[in-house]
Amino acid sequence: MAIPKTMRAAVLTELRTPLQVVELAMPEALAAGQVLVKIHFSGICGSQLGEIDGAKGEDKFLPHLLGHEASGTVLEVGAGVRHVKIGDKVVLHWRKGLGIESETPHYGWDGRKVNAGWITTFNEYAIVSENRVTAIPPDSDLEVAALFGCAVTTGFGIVENNADVRIGQSVVVYGSGGVGLNIVQAAALVSAYPVIAVDLYDGKLELAKRMGATHVINANGRALDDIRVDIQRVLDQTGSHIGADVFIDNTGVPAVIEMGYAMTKPQGTVTLVGVPRKGNNVNLFSLPLHFGKTLSGSHGGEAVPDVDIPRYHNMYRAGRIALRELITDCFGLDEINEAIAAMRDGKVRGRCLVRMSDQGR
Ligand SMILES: [Zn+2]
Repeated sequence: MAIPKTMRAAVLTELRTPLQVVELAMPEALAAGQVLVKIHFSGICGSQLGEIDGAKGEDKFLPHLLGHEASGTVLEVGAGVRHVKIGDKVVLHWRKGLGIESETPHYGWDGRKVNAGWITTFNEYAIVSENRVTAIPPDSDLEVAALFGCAVTTGFGIVENNADVRIGQSVVVYGSGGVGLNIVQAAALVSAYPVIAVDLYDGKLELAKRMGATHVINANGRALDDIRVDIQRVLDQTGSHIGADVFIDNTGVPAVIEMGYAMTKPQGTVTLVGVPRKGNNVNLFSLPLHFGKTLSGSHGGEAVPDVDIPRYHNMYRAGRIALRELITDCFGLDEINEAIAAMRDGKVRGRCLVRMSDQGR
């Protein structure tokens, strides 16, 4: 199939401003290792909110496209692509999988160049690198499939690979967004106990309970010291008097990370998922690190897409994990700024999808 001449896409033109949904010119040909995908559903992840806010500092790629989890159909493949073929249903993911890492594409906007990474998903079509797509069975649920791009693989990977949660360990999950809810679900799958979910919104905490949280704590408007007392009370009641085995921070807030570090056992594990803003440093007494306490940051749960996506997909089909329940909101591409605002306001309880549509074209 020929590459469509144009597509609609959400472009970040300036930090801390709404995305602009515009018509972009597509490249005329695919480079080696590139795959043309028609996007069906894209997730919106907290990291895109951070990108829009410039959380990592200056952004030298502006204007550019965004998004890193989606489902789609392969329309065309470039030279050398071996792991997917035309017609395949695929998950688009930001962690590297099998195949070539191609050059990144550029799109045109009234004569200006618009940048894109190896994967972008807030666009009707995407030219992505072969190693950012993984094929799934043709009859897959494409809404759920989008979550395998980040939310599920990251959440499950954090439990399996970063925190290495064992049966009966006590786990605190601070922040219950799309990734946090999957951390809760994975912790419950490996029979952690208790699984304590903390968030600012009751709606998310309700969902956390359905995902397997044994205890939930609403932190809204409360001092961190009080929340710490609440968490410790649950730990005391459930036999973890000397602290939690595992504390997983999804907030990136230094005071929360410091609290988690203080309230884990001497041999406990603190896993950082949320990324602090540049310059927001964490203050820790490092001595416990010499005696068995572990503090480390997760990079997408160290997920291996081509290995992890098929096995999680099998579990979903077998009814062993709940993912439909996590999709609580769905917006059109034209409404993407409303979707982002809803996420910022805590109105999205689970994961928010963006539905791509080429109606009227
Ligand atoms: Zn993500």
